[in-house]
Amino acid sequence: MRDYDLVIIGGGLVGGSLACALSGQGLRIAVVEAVAATAERQPSYDERVIALSWGSRVIFESIGLWSAIAPEAEPILQVHVSDLGHFGLARIDLEDAGVAALGYVTPARVMGMAIRAALAAAPDVDLLCPARIIGHRVAGERVELEIMREGECLRPRTALLVAADGGDSPVRQQLGCEIHEVSYGQDAIITTVTPRHPRVGVAYERFTDTGPLALLPMTEGRYSVVWTCRSEQAPELLMRSDEAFLERLQARFGYRLGHFQQVAPRQAYPLRLVLTRNPVRSRVVLIGNAAHTLHPVAGQGFNLGLRDVAALAESVVQAVRAGADPGGPAALADYRAWRGTDQERTARLTDLLARGFANPWPPLALARDLALLGLDLLPPARRRLARRFMGIDGRLPRLARGLTLERVDVTSSPSG
Ligand SMILES: Cc1cc2nc3c(=O)[nH]c(=O)nc-3n(C[C@H](O)[C@H](O)[C@H](O)COP(=O)(O)OP(=O)(O)OC[C@H]3O[C@@H](n4cnc5c(N)ncnc54)[C@H](O)[C@@H]3O)c2cc1C
Repeated sequence: MRDYDLVIIGGGLVGGSLACALSGQGLRIAVVEAVAATAERQPSYDERVIALSWGSRVIFESIGLWSAIAPEAEPILQVHVSDLGHFGLARIDLEDAGVAALGYVTPARVMGMAIRAALAAAPDVDLLCPARIIGHRVAGERVELEIMREGECLRPRTALLVAADGGDSPVRQQLGCEIHEVSYGQDAIITTVTPRHPRVGVAYERFTDTGPLALLPMTEGRYSVVWTCRSEQAPELLMRSDEAFLERLQARFGYRLGHFQQVAPRQAYPLRLVLTRNPVRSRVVLIGNAAHTLHPVAGQGFNLGLRDVAALAESVVQAVRAGADPGGPAALADYRAWRGTDQERTARLTDLLARGFANPWPPLALARDLALLGLDLLPPARRRLARRFMGIDGRLPRLARGLTLERVDVTSSPSG
C-alpha cells in the first residue's frame, strides 16, 4: 500500500477543504471518508445552512472553490441582534466591517459538492470513499493506518495524520484524548421559511430564554431558521403541523419580515460543547469539529475549522519548503502555537453567548441589554466585534489574506 505525506480522516467540509488547500503542493495526499457525497444523510453536507464569514470567503477564493459556491451564497449586509422581552438591541452594518459583505449564507451541501468535485479532479489526492479508519499506530517517522474499504483492509503509511472526522472523532477516541464536554440541554431546529416581506441581506439573531433564534437571508427571498429550544421541546416542535410551527415561530420572532408563508421540513441537532485538550499530538493533528464542537450561536464552528485548515496548510508547506517533513515537530509546533488562542477565544465567546443570553436572572438580563446598547452606540466596539466574527483579526494565514501557499518565502516568518 502507498506511502503518503498526509492522510486526512474525514472528507467533510473541513477535511475536504484541507485536501483542496494542499493539492498542487507536491504532496501525496489521501482522504478517507465514511459516507458517499450523494448519500441522503451525509453528516457534513446535509440540509444545514452555514453563515460563512468574510474571512472564510477569502480562504475559499484562495483555494479555488469560491466560484462554485458563490451562485448559492447570499451576502449578509446587516446583522440585527435583539433580546426577546428586553430592551437590548444592536445592529452591525457594512460600515463596521469595511468589506463588501459581513458574510454569506450558504447551503452546506453546495460547499460539500464543490469540495468533492475539486477532490475528484485533483491528481495528487486519493479519495477513499466509502472507507473508515479502524486503527492507527505511530511508528518512528510514520503513522501506520488500518483502513476498511469495501470489506478490504488497507494499510497505508503517512508522515502526518489529520483527523477531521467530526465531533465524535473516532481518531480522537483511538488516541484516548482528554476532552471537555458539556451538553447545553438545547437542540437547534433548522428549517427554511419564506416570509412575505424579506429584507435583502439582513440577518437576525434574537436571544430568547430557550437560546438564540437566528434567521439568515437566503437566495430567492427565503430565510434559513436556526431555532434553539430546550431539548425536551424539540420533539413537539418537529411534530407540529406546518401551520402550527409557523405560528409558534411568528410569536417568537415577531413581524419584522411580515407573515411567514411556507416552511420546509425540519431537523433537530442536539447541542454541546466539546473541546479536545491537546489537539496536536506526535504526527497527528485534530482539526474542525474533531478539535472543537461549538454551539451554533453567531455561526462560528465551520469558520473556525476553516481557519485551522488555512493555518495547517501553511505550516505544512512552510516546513516542507524548508526541507523538513510534513508531520515533523517543526510543522506541528508552529501550528499548535498559532491556533490555540483563536480556538480557545472563539469557544469561550460562543459558550458565553449561549449561556449568558438564555439566563433569565434579572441582573444578568439588564447587564447584557446594557452591553447590547453599548455596542449599538459605540462604533469602535462594534467594529472590533464585527472583525472578530468575520474571521479577519489576529494573525491571519496567507490563504485568509487572499495569497497562495506557493509563494511562501522560507526565509521569512510564516506570518510574513
Ligand atoms: C444547527 C447547526 C448550525 C450551524 N451553523 C453554522 C454556521 O452558520 N456557521 C459555521 O461556521 N458553523 C456552523 N455550524 C457548525 C458546522 O456545521 C461544523 O463546524 C462543521 O460542519 C464541522 O465540519 P467538520 O468537517 O469538522 O466535521 P463534520 O461536518 O462532522 O464532518 C466529519 C466527516 O468525517 C466523516 N467521518 C466520521 N467518522 C469517520 C471515520 N471513522 N472514517 C472516515 N470518515 C469519517 C463523516 O462522514 C463526515 O463527513 C452549525 C452547526 C449546527 C449543528
